[in-house]
Amino acid sequence: MIHVLHIEDNAGDARLIEEMLREDVPQKYEIIHAQRIKDAINILESDQEIDIILSDIALPDSQGDITFELLKKVAVNQPVVFITGSHDESLAIQALQQGAQDYLLKGFFDHDALVRSIHYSIERKKFQQEATRAKMRARKLQNEARLLKLKSDQLTELNEIKDDFISLASHQLRTPATGVKQYIGMILQGFAGEVPEPQKQLLQVAYDCNERQLTIVNDLLKVAQIDSGRLEMNKKRVDVEPMLREIIDEQKDAFASKDISITLEPIKGPSTIYADPERIRMAIENVIDNACKYSPRHRAVEVRVLNKPDMTCIEVKDQGVGIAQKDMTKVFEKFSRIYNSLSNTVGGSGLGLYWVKRVVDLHGGTISIRSQLNKGTVFSIDLPTREKDAKVT
Ligand code: ADP
Repeated sequence: MIHVLHIEDNAGDARLIEEMLREDVPQKYEIIHAQRIKDAINILESDQEIDIILSDIALPDSQGDITFELLKKVAVNQPVVFITGSHDESLAIQALQQGAQDYLLKGFFDHDALVRSIHYSIERKKFQQEATRAKMRARKLQNEARLLKLKSDQLTELNEIKDDFISLASHQLRTPATGVKQYIGMILQGFAGEVPEPQKQLLQVAYDCNERQLTIVNDLLKVAQIDSGRLEMNKKRVDVEPMLREIIDEQKDAFASKDISITLEPIKGPSTIYADPERIRMAIENVIDNACKYSPRHRAVEVRVLNKPDMTCIEVKDQGVGIAQKDMTKVFEKFSRIYNSLSNTVGGSGLGLYWVKRVVDLHGGTISIRSQLNKGTVFSIDLPTREKDAKVT
């Protein structure tokens, strides 16, 4: 059913249109008549359903372009087709240019032309409305994109301020903490005279606490440096075996204090990587240190090197507390400390593995975990063997 508002003061013309539409058998029309523009406006402002307006241009209470101006205000969703005498054709064309859908000249159209004009005008109006809505949506999206860009710029700026703050604060904290370490160390070594055993024990606790504080401050500095993109890499060919032997040797006291054995499996074939020796060394130290930290006493840690095509893999396997499946990716996030039976006693910043992963990424390598709760964990670090593969894109 198409609801037609027909605005026409001439009764003969009104009847003619009604008869023409009655001929259109498959389509049903409901025709609502208005003789004056004032009546038409009342109908349009009521709840009455109107799909299309057929209107004369010259009405008793409105003439020429004023008719269309008035209709345009109230008929926002309905198409308007003017049915006018030939002397008003230029006005009808003007209305067309301002948004009317079509016009028909009285005496020059038949049933087919009228029906075609009605259908065409309804469809065209729908299309125009959809196009307007799409334009508005596009404008809204553009505004949202602009806002998001603004927010993202603000966040980047805030992030940079935060990184600078952490870097500055850590620098400022490190100097006095280093001083404390130095002077307590000197007292412990007897530089200020003999220290009685009970005081020595207390000083040792203070020394260890200070060491932990320094480790956290250093972690913060390392992370701020890598996040700001200021970490310079000096990559070269590095022989993995002597590096691993040195790391294990340096950490042997920490392992011995927990009665954990640490072994390097004999390496088959060459074991070179293309890396910044200092950074990669620090990354592997971190993983080996964690293997000790997160293992109960009397366990074993094994380090081994596997040669893969284009990659050298360094594996650190412990028999420690393990990591739950759901936490495996979390351990590489910044400040993420995963609760386990040892995390309260060992302490830490939750920054170590974040930094390790960033460094491995900067070498074009990968780090992965295999773990079982309360059985142990294997950290695998794959690093490129050759320079061409060590480029980060
Ligand atoms: P931190 O040791 O300072 O907390 P890390 O970034 O080095 O920070 O490690 C993040 C978390 O990953 C740790 O809090 C710990 O829960 C877990 N984790 C790291 N290494 C091991 C490991 N070898 N075995 C079990 N859990 C580990």
